[in-house]
Amino acid sequence: MLNDTICAVSTPHGKGGISVIRISGDKCRDIVSRIFKPINGSKLTFEPRKAVYGNITSSLSGETIDDGIMTFFAAPASFTGEDTAEISCHGGIVVTSMVLDAVLNAGAVHAEAGEFTKRAFLNGRMSLTKAEATADLLDARSESAAVLTGENSRGRLSKKLSEMANSLLFIASSLSAYIDYPDEDLEDMEDDELDSRIDGLLEECNKLIEGRKTGEAVTEGIPAVICGKPNVGKSSFFNYLIGEDRAIVTDIPGTTRDMIEYQVKAGKIMLKLLDTAGIRENTSDIVEKMGIDAVKKRLSSDSGSIIFVLFTHDSFDTEKNEFSKDDKAVLDSLPKDTEHIIIPVITKSDMNISTEILKSILTDSFGKCFVISSSTGSGMDELLGYVEGLYIKGDFDLRENVYLTSVRQVNNIRRAAEELTEAKKALYNGYKDMTGIFIEHALSAIMETDGRETGEAIIKDIFSRFCVGK
Ligand code: GDP
Repeated sequence: MLNDTICAVSTPHGKGGISVIRISGDKCRDIVSRIFKPINGSKLTFEPRKAVYGNITSSLSGETIDDGIMTFFAAPASFTGEDTAEISCHGGIVVTSMVLDAVLNAGAVHAEAGEFTKRAFLNGRMSLTKAEATADLLDARSESAAVLTGENSRGRLSKKLSEMANSLLFIASSLSAYIDYPDEDLEDMEDDELDSRIDGLLEECNKLIEGRKTGEAVTEGIPAVICGKPNVGKSSFFNYLIGEDRAIVTDIPGTTRDMIEYQVKAGKIMLKLLDTAGIRENTSDIVEKMGIDAVKKRLSSDSGSIIFVLFTHDSFDTEKNEFSKDDKAVLDSLPKDTEHIIIPVITKSDMNISTEILKSILTDSFGKCFVISSSTGSGMDELLGYVEGLYIKGDFDLRENVYLTSVRQVNNIRRAAEELTEAKKALYNGYKDMTGIFIEHALSAIMETDGRETGEAIIKDIFSRFCVGK
């Protein structure tokens, strides 16, 4: 409820130099007055943005709990748009919870996850894409992700969307002027101009949709499955990429029965790397068989994911001119669609056994093939550079371009693009009133992206991703 005054510890849980307790709402001044006394004995004046040193006392017993600094931010010029205070106290776990208790006893209620940011949104202090970016920024696992989400949290995407909304509004109002007042000599747009403005907006939408892959690769990571027959070097490759011995490496076939997922960096992008059970043709072990079935299922799911298919020097019998039975089983398990990005990788290059024929067969089939060694690291930079290049193109500039970072955003922009395509068709067929309707639909899809016309459910979903205190 917005009329409650909320509070929470905004610094991470645990022992630290200081803890910050945030209080926001109408009763903020009253609550702080009850528990915070300036050290010089003067009356608390709540001068905005001025730090005051004082004692923090229990509102029940009046005893001093700690001493610290209180900073006040007056509504509406605060993060939440409400009267807000931040009390910095000593960062011990017990002392922090005693100060929080004092605030609660003085009349505040504990904030829910993301409630401070939700209030900022509801009070018009922040657009929805800014709020989403703030959640992503707190979650950022790489510098590139922090730059991209940081740009959006400072309003880059929001600005782009509002420019698009303004263009749409201009078209919509021009069309409705023409439709509502056909007899008036109002200055309406020529069809050619209308058409080229719609084209421009469609191009903006398509650019945003295409850039989504980059946004996803930088902030969330692309799923990347490692598969291959037993003993081909999957776990060693996985361990090399994650830089730790997380997966069990042995020379007993069938060791990795469970799938293990880990996030790794490949230059500016992230991979959600999955090590899997080795696929082989025949196994009598029921658990291993279940593992293999699960891998096969996984390989055909997650459209858009990368599949590293591992081979090694004994994968291809040059005399018989065929793949080994297990490698054939691996090849047969690969999805046949064009959605997955299949990357063949020949392992154990440090063993210096010729794999030239295998390499040329794989290159013929998949258009590429990488040769690596997980023991020496040879070939890894080339492979990871290739993967990064799939998502990061030449003109890539995290600070200049605008990126969508959530499925929700991309769905809205897709919807806007569909409506714009329909608007073009209607215009072409001479139905200006229909054109106007489609333009209005496109406008609401764009506005919704930034939470300017959005359902309660979407807002709830977005803010549940925050931690308490933000
Ligand atoms: P998995 O069953 O496919 O996961 O294979 P592992 O990663 O467990 O490796 C099987 C065996 O191959 C182990 O003895 C590894 O030490 C060895 N191996 C894996 N990668 C390399 C490599 O790049 N070079 C060499 N020389 N041996 C490797």
